[in-house]
Amino acid sequence: MKITDVKAYAIRTEFRYPFVWRKGLPGSDTVQESTVLRIMTDEGMEGVCTIPRGQIAIDLIGRRIKDMLLGEDPFLKERIWHLMLELDRIEEFPIYMLGAVDIALWDLTAKASGLPLYRILGGHTNKVSAYASTVTYDTIDQYLRIADQCLARGYKAIKLHAWGDVEADAKLAKALRKHVGEHIDLMYDGSAGFDLQQSIRLGKHLEEVGFLWYEEPMREFNINNYRKLCRELTIPVLSAETSDGCHYNAADFIVQEAADLIRTSTHYKGGITGALRIAHLADAFGMKAEIHGGGLPNLHLACAIPNNTAFEILVYAEPAVYAHEVDQDGCIAPPDVPGTGEQYDWNELEQHAFLKI
Ligand SMILES: [Mg+2]
Repeated sequence: MKITDVKAYAIRTEFRYPFVWRKGLPGSDTVQESTVLRIMTDEGMEGVCTIPRGQIAIDLIGRRIKDMLLGEDPFLKERIWHLMLELDRIEEFPIYMLGAVDIALWDLTAKASGLPLYRILGGHTNKVSAYASTVTYDTIDQYLRIADQCLARGYKAIKLHAWGDVEADAKLAKALRKHVGEHIDLMYDGSAGFDLQQSIRLGKHLEEVGFLWYEEPMREFNINNYRKLCRELTIPVLSAETSDGCHYNAADFIVQEAADLIRTSTHYKGGITGALRIAHLADAFGMKAEIHGGGLPNLHLACAIPNNTAFEILVYAEPAVYAHEVDQDGCIAPPDVPGTGEQYDWNELEQHAFLKI
């Protein structure tokens, strides 16, 4: 099988619930751009990946990636992953570009096998539990109402994106713990809002109220500061979500003891191939690899590896609106179709893309 064509469609989607976090910071827009990458072959099989940006993805695919892929064997995913890593060296890809081709090629491979993706990635389970990951709300009362809605919906774990203020966030964490009781897992995501001293102070508050993990309180440029944070706290620190360099970088976070739990994801960590490497690397250290973010490729990854706690589902607005639906036990299963299950109307994309290749 040979890759014979590469198409890409940049589209704009109206989104009613922008993702807001921390105080007064720019969140995502109500009009979101994305690019649908479509890799086609001489045998009619094709693979698809959705990239979370428009113009910049079209530029890289059109100027660099398409020509590199034409004539390649789509099953040689390791070869193509390393070709993309070479291009990343030249272009300094945005973090979500390194794995885009890899996700599409795994989708194609799974379709060629006639199996849902997770079943050819090793396959660990056909459904996983999920946690509700809130956007930033205005008041403690609003968070408590949202928590009630999530628990009634079936969720058994809730993660806060809060204001980025040590005292206010500590007060919220305490109020939420009191409200939901001891048996609900609670996590906190700092969205890199703090310096080291603030991170230590807040972490001690979260320890007191028994949070399951403390995620990305600082930017992830400085491994040494994460090492100091991990030494100061007993609560597990979850890090390396936005750091560049895939498993090469994750290895440093782990051996420098700058993470108790390591982030992996298909869209920030080199596609399926990169995300699996991080998961297996973490497993070798007896460590969890917690999957960052939603979407079908991440859901298949979650069903393919044993060392992930739960799948992240964003919760927007009030009353709560969920990025994915869960069953009454708070679990979610990937579509039982070959590939990732992403479906597109190609005619509509041809007509409505604002940029295309
Ligand atoms: Mg996060």
